Amino acid sequence: MIEMRQVEKFYGPFHALKGIDFSVTKGEKIVLCGPSGSGKSTLIRCINHLEPIASGEIVVAGHRLSDSQDAVDAVRREVGMVFQQFNLFPHKTVLENCILAPMRVRKLSRAEAEETARKYLERVRIGDQAAKYPAQLSGGQQQRVAIARALCMEPKAMLFDEPTSALDPEMVKEVLDTMVSLARDGMTMICVTHEMGFARQVADRVIFMADGEIVEENAPDAFFSNP
Ligand code: ADP
Ligand code: ADP
Repeated sequence: MIEMRQVEKFYGPFHALKGIDFSVTKGEKIVLCGPSGSGKSTLIRCINHLEPIASGEIVVAGHRLSDSQDAVDAVRREVGMVFQQFNLFPHKTVLENCILAPMRVRKLSRAEAEETARKYLERVRIGDQAAKYPAQLSGGQQQRVAIARALCMEPKAMLFDEPTSALDPEMVKEVLDTMVSLARDGMTMICVTHEMGFARQVADRVIFMADGEIVEENAPDAFFSNP
């Protein structure tokens, strides 16, 4: 589903990703961890071509990112992304936030997009908040809206970049529960997170990065039992 081969990435002179070889099969759940600045966010942003790479190859759902803008567009349609900041439009309701992309990108009619949005808002247990504005919701609720908005594109995989890091502690669990629920449904997921309980619960593999390299890759049990 997602393959990176010998990916190199620089920010100016700074070598941010060094020879990354990485692949994720359909349905797999990967947790990416490691110290701040190790390149986790950069790695997942490269998968959506939010960051261009210097060399190497990235293939997502059969699309080679270097091929064309069409390939990039296809990947962005098929891979949902959830960030630390929810990035909801403040002057649009929850429902409107969720129907924009399905109408524009999937070319759904307004009625179809609305039906889709309501379905995924229910899916993240926030269907009753559809008419509210983001500022009227808690951080945990806003993040679940962001997850629903991504799901409305019916993606083949979901990328999470520290989705709970901006939340107050009491809201972390509701977002993690939503992610657990998606994982149980078989969603292919790559999650950058420091939530090791979540990693133990859902990860097929935990990947540890340091200084732009993958330094360890293991099943969670093996990973956590390492001295
Ligand atoms: P992580 O997600 O592991 O904290 P990042 O991928 O965000 O790490 O960043 C990896 C390194 O790249 C850091 O040293 C960071 O300062 C640097 N970096 C990230 N984004 C940029 C950027 N846009 N310009 C310059 N340096 C960047
Ligand atoms: P189970 O197999 O035990 O029913 P689920 O995957 O349905 O597990 O749910 C796991 C946890 O996530 C539970 O605590 C459940 O309440 C919660 N949960 C399930 N679905 C959602 C959802 N869509 N949004 C938020 N939390 C959910």
